[in-house]
Amino acid sequence: MNYESRIMVFRHTPQRMLVLRTVKASRQFQTAVDVFRAVKQQFPRIGFATVYRNLNLLRNRGEIFGFKDKDGVRRFAGFVFHSATFTCERCGRAAPVNLKRFDEQVQAALPRRTVYFSRLEVRGLCPEHGRLATK
Ligand SMILES: [Zn+2]
Repeated sequence: MNYESRIMVFRHTPQRMLVLRTVKASRQFQTAVDVFRAVKQQFPRIGFATVYRNLNLLRNRGEIFGFKDKDGVRRFAGFVFHSATFTCERCGRAAPVNLKRFDEQVQAALPRRTVYFSRLEVRGLCPEHGRLATK
């Protein structure tokens, strides 16, 4: 993991903003090459490596959605799915649960199946209602 992806304050470079906007503007599951071609029309000097690096950075940060298709090609989409969500049983407030490599673990548990998308629902009590319950 590089330094840039570990720091808490994350700033988008103009190239990264363009990659993000391009992915979000499409309703398709685009490959890195698709995104590169679209971005290059607006920013002719951008390299494929820059687009590819930014796609993976945005995916790791949960700003875009990425998965491997049945041919093993990584595809990206601008609509973000949280692979896990925590919901408080009392107040109904939901919070995303960030599980690294959740999709890969699900795929590993399902040999010979092709997983495109997986989701985990977690229910319990939020800090506010968890405290009340113990009194
Ligand atoms: Zn609650």
